[in-house]
Amino acid sequence: MRIPLQAGGGGRPALRRAALDLNADYAAMRVKVSREFCLRCGSCEAVCPEVFIVKADGVHLRRARVPAACRGACRVAADLCPVDAISLAP
Ligand code: SF4
Repeated sequence: MRIPLQAGGGGRPALRRAALDLNADYAAMRVKVSREFCLRCGSCEAVCPEVFIVKADGVHLRRARVPAACRGACRVAADLCPVDAISLAP
């Protein structure tokens, strides 16, 4: 769901900022981890601790939707994962 913004940048600034933030979250890609393959190497958490956290039983996700600010880091984390356990999708 996208929140429509008024044409020409109208509207109350705080509401407009909140709508932009929500739109950014809704536009974010999704991340999934195949925990059965995870080696708990910690590389994903080192690259993007906002999304990944490694625990004794494997990697967990702090959030399933990747915010726009973390997209690059999550792509790097997926590329660096030695067992290709991380997948990203729009
Ligand atoms: S980089 Fe891959 S193998 Fe390493 S902790 Fe993250 S998901 Fe597991």
